[in-house]
Amino acid sequence: MIKGIAASPGIEIGKAHLIKPQQVDINTEAVIEENIDGEIKRFDEAVGLSKLQLKQIKEKAEKELGADKAEIFGAHLMILEDPVFLDEIVSKIKTESITADNATSQVVKNYVEIFNNLEDEYMKERAADIKDVGERIVKNILGVSTDSFIFSEKVIIIAKDLTPSDTAQMDKDKVLAFATDMGGRTSHTAIMARSLEIPAVVGLVDITEKVQDGDLIVIDGNKGIVSINPDETTLKEYETLKRDYMEYRRQLKELKDLPAETGDKLRRVELSANIGTPRDVKGAIENGAEGVGLYRTEFLYMDRDALPTEEEQFEAYREVIEKMAPRPIIIRTLDIGGDKKLSYLDMPEELNPFMGWRAIRMCLDRPDILKTQLRAILRASIYGNAKIMYPMVSGSEEVCRANAILNEAKQELKAEGISFDENLEVGIMVEIPSAAVTADILVKEVDFFSIGTNDLIQYTLAVDRMNEHISHLYEPLHPAVLRLIKNVIDASHKAGKWTGMCGEMAGDTSATAILLGMGLDEFSMSAPSIPQVKKIIRSLTYEEAQHIAQKALSMDKPEDIRNMVEQEMERIR
Ligand code: PEP
Ligand code: MG
Repeated sequence: MIKGIAASPGIEIGKAHLIKPQQVDINTEAVIEENIDGEIKRFDEAVGLSKLQLKQIKEKAEKELGADKAEIFGAHLMILEDPVFLDEIVSKIKTESITADNATSQVVKNYVEIFNNLEDEYMKERAADIKDVGERIVKNILGVSTDSFIFSEKVIIIAKDLTPSDTAQMDKDKVLAFATDMGGRTSHTAIMARSLEIPAVVGLVDITEKVQDGDLIVIDGNKGIVSINPDETTLKEYETLKRDYMEYRRQLKELKDLPAETGDKLRRVELSANIGTPRDVKGAIENGAEGVGLYRTEFLYMDRDALPTEEEQFEAYREVIEKMAPRPIIIRTLDIGGDKKLSYLDMPEELNPFMGWRAIRMCLDRPDILKTQLRAILRASIYGNAKIMYPMVSGSEEVCRANAILNEAKQELKAEGISFDENLEVGIMVEIPSAAVTADILVKEVDFFSIGTNDLIQYTLAVDRMNEHISHLYEPLHPAVLRLIKNVIDASHKAGKWTGMCGEMAGDTSATAILLGMGLDEFSMSAPSIPQVKKIIRSLTYEEAQHIAQKALSMDKPEDIRNMVEQEMERIR
């Protein structure tokens, strides 16, 4: 049994599918004359195999992820059919007497360099495609397997690390659970897993060294434990735990249609869901979400080879807004950077990507990208109750600049005779300490705040949210974090506005009573957490929650705060 970080709840038992980074060793030796034809044959066969694989992936992706996500594989297939590209490699094998893998890798490298150096965004996007296709051909020449996240049977994925887009691609019917060497609880990989209700344990350091393909694995996402080839007794215990957990979830879901109000009915809050794609709306509604408190639009921009057009974005936003109507939905403008990269945008290599060129900073440097997105949101706003939210705001100047672009978008639409919701609310994420401290200044520019604790905690405590070695220091109940949250809520209420929270802390049951007592108006979380938070809110009176909040704010140590909350909750029950 290995202990890691509990990233997504639930218990699953199944066979391991190990994803190991593949070592690709290019053979750079010269090829003798009589073997040249053999190398060309190896190349042709690898191209044939790559086509077959891509066709299969494309078909599956079309069925399971939709036509837009499958489009990228179509673009890859076109490269494999480009005679200029293929001939160049064959000719290199012949004229330079080198191996098929060496020639492919050199030609691809050359194209990637040329395309990357062009100013044209479109050509830069092609560079990423050629690189992907080139790697596939080389792997097929060398007989190294090419992994994808589409499986024919149910598996438990064991990997060094998974990107958020790997997780987004996972099919819940095929991926039972996953475990990784790296990662923290608030990495986007973990957040996606919670939304998809895929149990996960991360930060296991060397699980990929300990597990073999096909091993029987138990993932306990509640406790953060992975058991490899458990004995009969352990297996039986986990089967019972899994049944009990599913029964507990079923009972919680009975609260679905009840309001999130305190037992004395003196305080009612809104419980909303965080979503990453339109397909998450189903889970949000099933878990009783009263709205979407955070739509992470980044995923619309990922897993593709070009920026999404205004029309594509409009369709996605409209779908989500319509499906959630009349419930409110807060659409966050593009928050790329940090652990979310776009292969087709020329993003700088950064030492501190979470403190780098990301989110609103990038969007203000590329107003064309922001304006396209704002136009799409505005156009979709007439189909329900949409709100706009800017991420990573550090001061009021950024809000003013973003709002100026929003106004331009509105003026353009007016001139074009296109209607939009004129009263659409605009808010910001409070996730940088400077914003939390100056909430009284920022509140003048916005209609609402939403506290992004995932980033707020990492910046306040200087604890990288992705780093498994310091995850014990990542403390939501640190007095500094609680004081900042209180300051933001109070500043908004003083100005007659409201504050929500869309960081993972909103779904952390050890913080529910404190946040409720501090006056938080909206809690937005991974949808499956909604029922348990609702249960706690309904079990408290408003006075009890206020008392717990006051006590928490007067205490010195997170551990004492956690114990106090537990004792108070015990006493109330
Ligand atoms: C946050 O930082 O709390 C947040 C909700 O944004 P993200 O997790 O996408 O950075
Ligand atoms: Mg954030």
